[in-house]
Amino acid sequence: MSDCLFCKIADGDIPCNKVYEDDDFLAFHDIHPKAPTHVLVIPKVHIATLADATEQDAALLGSMMDRVRHIADEALHLDAGYRVVLNVREGGGQEVMHIHTHILGGKKLSF
Ligand code: AMP
Ligand code: ZN
Repeated sequence: MSDCLFCKIADGDIPCNKVYEDDDFLAFHDIHPKAPTHVLVIPKVHIATLADATEQDAALLGSMMDRVRHIADEALHLDAGYRVVLNVREGGGQEVMHIHTHILGGKKLSF
């Protein structure tokens, strides 16, 4: 999508601090971290929000969670644990309308 920040990052048109990349996903450090480790995992295809995903996207969503597990373990070494957050639309605190999963860790998190 031409006017989407995370599509531009996925296309390499806007730089990011990359943590992980494969054919379908990209992970990079959040520009305004809310924990010592704060990484975003995005699919390269544009889906605006979880609420806009369909049953056809089920495999992709499952793969995103598998990448979260892999990145938290292999790239970020968050052995003590971490939090996974997926904000949905404005009411859920979503600011960038390209689906993404937050990985937060590096300290004991409380609500
Ligand atoms: P959300 O509120 O769930 O939509 O999260 C969007 C996240 O993207 C926020 O935590 C922002 O700090 C982060 N963000 C915005 N622009 C960038 C950028 N250019 N590079 C990395 N992270 C960004
Ligand atoms: Zn996008």
